[in-house]
Amino acid sequence: MLVYNTLVRRKQTFKPLSDREVGVYTCGPTVYWFAHIGNMKSYVSEDVIKRTLMHSGYKVKHVMNITDVGHLVGDANIGEDKVKMEARKEHKSALDVSRFYTHAFIEDMERLNIIKPDVICKATDHIPEMLALVKKLDEKGYLYKVETGMYYDTSKFKDYGALAGMDFEKLNKYLKAGARVERAAGIRNTTDFAVWRFSNSEEKEMVWDSEWGRGFPGWHIECSAMSMKYLGNHFDIHMGGIDHIPVHHTNEIAQSEGATGEKFVNYWMHMAFLKVDGKKMAKSLGNVYTIKELVEKGFDPIAVRLLFISGHYRQELNFTIESLKGMTNTLSMLYSFIDRMNGVLKSGGGSKDKAFMEFVDKSRKGFFSAMEDDFSTPEALASMYSLVRESNKRAESGMGAEEARHVIDVMLEFDSILGLEFDKRLSRTDKLSEEVEKLIKERNEARKHKDFAEADRIRRVLKEKGVTLEDTAHGTVWKSSD
Ligand code: AMP
Ligand code: ZN
Repeated sequence: MLVYNTLVRRKQTFKPLSDREVGVYTCGPTVYWFAHIGNMKSYVSEDVIKRTLMHSGYKVKHVMNITDVGHLVGDANIGEDKVKMEARKEHKSALDVSRFYTHAFIEDMERLNIIKPDVICKATDHIPEMLALVKKLDEKGYLYKVETGMYYDTSKFKDYGALAGMDFEKLNKYLKAGARVERAAGIRNTTDFAVWRFSNSEEKEMVWDSEWGRGFPGWHIECSAMSMKYLGNHFDIHMGGIDHIPVHHTNEIAQSEGATGEKFVNYWMHMAFLKVDGKKMAKSLGNVYTIKELVEKGFDPIAVRLLFISGHYRQELNFTIESLKGMTNTLSMLYSFIDRMNGVLKSGGGSKDKAFMEFVDKSRKGFFSAMEDDFSTPEALASMYSLVRESNKRAESGMGAEEARHVIDVMLEFDSILGLEFDKRLSRTDKLSEEVEKLIKERNEARKHKDFAEADRIRRVLKEKGVTLEDTAHGTVWKSSD
């Protein structure tokens, strides 16, 4: 399997640290508001990567954090904590705010059929682990104290900035130019960051005592502390959005490797951004959608998932309502295709064409080689669509049940990665067909006894279920309209 590693800026053959388990850490949401579709696109891409690893036979241990303290407005070094600010606005406690948006986030993950991480860990539950890490860094001489907190002197960490492909000087210039980091008083380098911030806030749940003074953690320290707690000092894969490369992940490396003296992560993987109507998402542009809003507009979240994976995870994706409508049609085409194959399977018999069976195998191979080459979903989907096209053609000219079985099995295998819920569709059509067949039988009985009122009633019941009947010379056939 080939994986693009940001650290070396090229694809590398994936070699796990242990053949027992692959450790994967994902930077989770800051729970001060609903996650937007850009955030959720990253989580869907990360889910597809994880599912591919699982399909290739790796046992994955997946850890995700929930940032409920420490993330300041604008990611800057000064400013207010995002969760605390929202709590003030909503006249609620910070705990109530983070609980509410954590719940909303998990709901969105479920809607998008994202497999739940094995460990979901909250920053506020891991303050002792973070303080232990701060202590190690302090003992090793990486930290200095200013009025607002304990800061990491990034000039002391060898290779600081390597993840961003820059040296120390260059990254400092870059951050200064972009004004990405504001400088608090007494800070030595633009890239320096707080690992502990002093605060005498009244809100007891959001401040902790420490040997350096009362306060709360800096944002980056939580990911270093929690990832190493659950996956060990050195683990396989760390993922997040590309915005995390120059600051958040660069600082995680400085903290973890500074404290342990060991390599932290082998493969760093970054998800490209989602734009809306060709523009950056911004509240001021009114183009910040949430999954819940799209569902309320009547869209199937699985169509949103399909849209997210239609592009490569390293390529920027442009979201428009038009493109989502297009994906809704594609998804319903795929579901009808599953129904059709299931119909052929249920009708039994038919022939088996060697060339067709070989084509199915070739499509299967095409799909998985694309996924194992740095998770290329566009190419994998192209293999699947060509399988659908050829199978539909084959169904016109007398496909056999054994062929349909093979196509369905391969589609389900694809779906173990795509997560488009083909399995649910199959069991739904199976259930529906049992019900419909039973009602058709009852209707035939009624017609035999010239009970046309009853026959019409049954036709109406079926119509309510979206099923239309057609009486042909060979008997009654039915069609489901959705
Ligand atoms: P945050 O809650 O701000 O920490 O972001 C959660 C995740 O979403 C991080 O991995 C970010 O890098 C990612 N992210 C933020 N904005 C976008 C976007 N427009 N497109 C894709 N991913 C994003
Ligand atoms: Zn993180």
